[in-house]
Amino acid sequence: MSAQNVVYLDNNATTRVAPEVLEAMLPFFSERYGNPSSMHNFGGSVGREMREARESLADLLGCGTDEIIFTSCGTESDNTAIRSALTAQPQKRHIITTRVEHPAVLSLCKFLERSQGYRVTYLGVDAEGRLDMRELEDSLSDDTAIVSIMWANNETGVLFPIPEIATLVKSRGSILHTDAVQAVGKVPINLGNLDVDMLSLSGHKLHAPKGVGALYVRRKLPYRPYLIGGHQEHGRRAGTENTTGIIALGAAARAAKAHLPVENTVVRALRDRLENALLKAVSDSRLNGHKTERLPNTSNISFKYIEGEAILLLLDQLGIAASSGSACTSGSLEPSHVLRAMGIPFTYAHGSIRFSLSRYTTDADVDYVIKNVPGIIETLRKISPYKQGEAEPLSPLDAKPACGC
Ligand SMILES: *Cc1c(COP(=O)(O)O)cnc(C)c1O
Repeated sequence: MSAQNVVYLDNNATTRVAPEVLEAMLPFFSERYGNPSSMHNFGGSVGREMREARESLADLLGCGTDEIIFTSCGTESDNTAIRSALTAQPQKRHIITTRVEHPAVLSLCKFLERSQGYRVTYLGVDAEGRLDMRELEDSLSDDTAIVSIMWANNETGVLFPIPEIATLVKSRGSILHTDAVQAVGKVPINLGNLDVDMLSLSGHKLHAPKGVGALYVRRKLPYRPYLIGGHQEHGRRAGTENTTGIIALGAAARAAKAHLPVENTVVRALRDRLENALLKAVSDSRLNGHKTERLPNTSNISFKYIEGEAILLLLDQLGIAASSGSACTSGSLEPSHVLRAMGIPFTYAHGSIRFSLSRYTTDADVDYVIKNVPGIIETLRKISPYKQGEAEPLSPLDAKPACGC
């Protein structure tokens, strides 16, 4: 199936490469294949283009170019950040994170807890997905090596108050890492005014291709590389650079900066129109996540008594691409760990669909979804195996990451 006949509302899973990004990167696959570490100008000129890409990304984030390390993906950035903090402070054995992180953080923390003997605190969230700041405050101790809290949730779009968290964590002498993979390009970020120590991002979530990411590391923060080898990235990430990906990420950062106002007006208005129409047209439906403290592009809606997977299948037949819970959890019948942590009742959590828009989403796309979803829900409810009665709320204590991907 080609992009022409799909209504793509799964932008939190991945995004299309922006045309200007593709154009910027193409020459580095063909004529300009030099290695930036080479002594000759053929390679060196690629290095100069990479510097420009680094400047564009630093400009988007409000940080210095020397504070950016290019990586292969968001997962690598998350893993590198957490392992670096632990290796640099071997005497500290405690990690704080949340129950609703992406598996790139959550599964690593579970691994460190089970196999390496670290103590991990998993902070809870309320029914709207908001963090309990008191619990964070009470959990911090002299033994806390790192606090890793996402900026925006990939499943619900809920935003955590990173500036407030940063001030608190700094006052207690811990390192703060934030997984900002979903936030970069969608909400303004200015690291110049923030006490964040490390921040992860991923190219393919912001209209650059798959296979490139970045990690911001605050100047003077003790840092230990994860990949050891050559002197690339000033010895902080060995391995010949993904030159095409890095050039693309620079172009995507420039485009993201230019489009940031669009995200917060046009995309937000489209999202709100979709969300309000569906909640109005379908009985026993509800929004998952806080109404306003949320990314402008994300809407996670539960339709009671039916399976999200069944909805996805029927949407797919109509050429609508969305997601149930998270891309990782679809395919298994476990309700998403994020919705479980929020205590969303079982009969709602199962029927959850995430619509995630982008600046390429059109009015016609939204019209098409609004026109078709109510009928799909009606069809499925007729054959639903669930009793249409009162639901047992899930205990937040049941929450666990649903997969290791
Ligand atoms: C997609 C995603 C990741 C992983 O990024 P990759 O580049 O796919 O490894 C990490 N965290 C969040 C919040 C994400 O949405």
